[in-house]
Amino acid sequence: MYTSSCSNYWKTVGSAILYQSKLGWWEEVAEKPKLHTYMQIRLPEDPPVLATSFVKRLDRSLLAKLMLGILQLEIEIGRYLNIKLEECFCRTCNLKVVEDEFHFLFSCSALQDIRSTFYVENISDIESFMLMSDADKVYYLCQKSRIRTFASYIANLYRKRSVIYKPVYGLIE
Ligand SMILES: [Zn+2]
Repeated sequence: MYTSSCSNYWKTVGSAILYQSKLGWWEEVAEKPKLHTYMQIRLPEDPPVLATSFVKRLDRSLLAKLMLGILQLEIEIGRYLNIKLEECFCRTCNLKVVEDEFHFLFSCSALQDIRSTFYVENISDIESFMLMSDADKVYYLCQKSRIRTFASYIANLYRKRSVIYKPVYGLIE
């Protein structure tokens, strides 16, 4: 006979299996240096908003690559070429800072005009936004109501970067 205690038992078993599977996933992710950005970023909803929001295909692809650490920034190119992480300098601003995902999104001075326009048009409370950590900024921008403009912002940054960038490795798409 199917009783409520039986139901509770299967709920507990189900939760334990789900927990183990999530734990395994996070342990696996933690071992992959490419996913260091993904480890720092919390996505706001489950299922991920990217899958359920209307975002242009190219923009979605760039956003997904950025989140997974496979967008062709210096940090990713350096992995292919065994360059030390601390030497993967940004070739867009040439300010001898590492070009990782957060530098590209929030700091690179060569892309400041696109960033300023994006902030003015999309960030209503800029003072509190600027006080957030970079990971929290991404979390904020990945909310369902903002993810479309965020993905478009990434595409604009990447487009401008590809005009300025001087490839020296021959690996750029
Ligand atoms: Zn830069």
